[in-house]
Amino acid sequence: MDLLEKCRAYTRTDEARDDGLYPHYPPFQGPAGGGLAVLDGAEVCMLGSSDYRALGLNPQVIGAAQDAIALFGTSASGPRMLNGNMDLHEELEADLADFFGYEAALVFATGYMANLGVVSCLAGDGDEVYLDERAHASLVDGARLANVSGAAVRWFGHNDPDDLARLLATAPLRSVLVATDGVFSAEGDEAPVAELVAVCEEYGATLLVDDAHGVGLLGRGRGVIERAGMQGRVPLMTLTFSTALASQGGAVLADAKTIDFLRHTSRPQIFSAGLSPADTAAAHAALREIRRRSDHEPAALAAAEHLRRALGALGYDVAGGASPVIPVRFSDECGVLVAQRILLDHGVYTNAVLPPTCEDYQLRVACTDAHTPDVLEAAIGVFAVLRDDLLPHYRQAARAVLPRDRAPAAGGAGSHVRPNF
Ligand code: PMP
Repeated sequence: MDLLEKCRAYTRTDEARDDGLYPHYPPFQGPAGGGLAVLDGAEVCMLGSSDYRALGLNPQVIGAAQDAIALFGTSASGPRMLNGNMDLHEELEADLADFFGYEAALVFATGYMANLGVVSCLAGDGDEVYLDERAHASLVDGARLANVSGAAVRWFGHNDPDDLARLLATAPLRSVLVATDGVFSAEGDEAPVAELVAVCEEYGATLLVDDAHGVGLLGRGRGVIERAGMQGRVPLMTLTFSTALASQGGAVLADAKTIDFLRHTSRPQIFSAGLSPADTAAAHAALREIRRRSDHEPAALAAAEHLRRALGALGYDVAGGASPVIPVRFSDECGVLVAQRILLDHGVYTNAVLPPTCEDYQLRVACTDAHTPDVLEAAIGVFAVLRDDLLPHYRQAARAVLPRDRAPAAGGAGSHVRPNF
């Protein structure tokens, strides 16, 4: 069969477009990181942004990026190991290490590459990788590469340290990497870091926490490790700059020898260009801002708590914990697509997240520091209308037009297909 046949047979998105329910790649006209954004010429309440501290429009952050472009130009012009390294990178690494309490840090071009680069570089032949079953795709893909190099890969139950302990107790005695999200990107819940540390210490396993959605927010900006009181006891931490740090890029934090090893052997680091001057300087300015505000509870957390309670009181199936992410669950794809569309028609933008991106059918709602009380109340009002009047009507209409596999069905969440290691 022709290699591209699968692309021609891929009609799922065409069908959603034909139904007026296609939810992805919305072309915003202007910044999408504030409390409000402009889509199709209309102002919408933005409940999808991961710019949790709303620093993407902060004058200091923008000024730092502009200054960096003026001094260094727009490009890193090559991999850091050769010619793409700048003092901007090294200053950011020193401050990241200092703020998060590690000996050293290494900046990557994205958070995805940081996870890929750490897991695939550190685990190989004779090693074992244990992943939380809801771990982010970048940890999973790092494990896939490690698996190609001979590492065994296993899943433990979501946020279930007892399951991890049970698996490790029966595992052959090999070197083990345990990897988890800190705050889970779709579920919005927090890893039980203290319990995972205890299990890893008992079995001599090395713990990696990817705190993409906890840094800048929890634990005085230092994330879930600090919040759990586990500073100094999690050997590897990764983060992205594309959430609270309002930029692009990612980093790993560890002891100095591990960072030196990764600097010279991690393939996504050595075979890809360094982070651009503007992105590096913006992330650094955002880090300074977060440090400066670290004694104040982020407004995003209070906003999310308020919204979570309000949606729960309206009868929505909401999940999550003390994070800015609120998953609003639906029983099927149709419900999510229709709800996303109606909310948008009423001026509220949310993210439609479906399998295989996540386990459940959900609207992913996220709050930032930019959500003022009146914007939030207006959004809650739209959710109320959606529940009472619109959802049943639209679901009925959609049932008629949607192909059977996307129509509302009995049964719950979809089955997320995990790689079979
Ligand atoms: N880890 C987690 C938990 C994420 O949610 C994401 C995406 N936001 C990443 C890593 C990858 O980050 P980036 O966007 O910098 O590639």
